[in-house]
Amino acid sequence: MPLFTYSCEDCDEQFEKLVRGTKSPEPETCIMCSSSKIRKIPTTFSLSRNEIDALRSLDPMYKRMVEDRMAQTPEAEPMRHLAKMTPFDVAEDPGKPIDF
Ligand SMILES: [Zn+2]
Repeated sequence: MPLFTYSCEDCDEQFEKLVRGTKSPEPETCIMCSSSKIRKIPTTFSLSRNEIDALRSLDPMYKRMVEDRMAQTPEAEPMRHLAKMTPFDVAEDPGKPIDF
């Protein structure tokens, strides 16, 4: 099934439509503003997208929400391991310094 992308000349909205066969009627109005000034954008591929494309098409707001949540978890704190470490000068047997 070819996947066509349409662009609205009035509001710049882009939307996609799966066309089942060639006789299927194309959308005649914009899904956002109902303008009839839409044009088909040629696509070089058809059929299913892979999962990466599916992830990229996620709503940006949702993606930001997830990233904000991730940043708030303790695991996201980069200094958390340092906080658990024993300072070198109070350790009973510090051993040899590690040469980084
Ligand atoms: Zn529009």
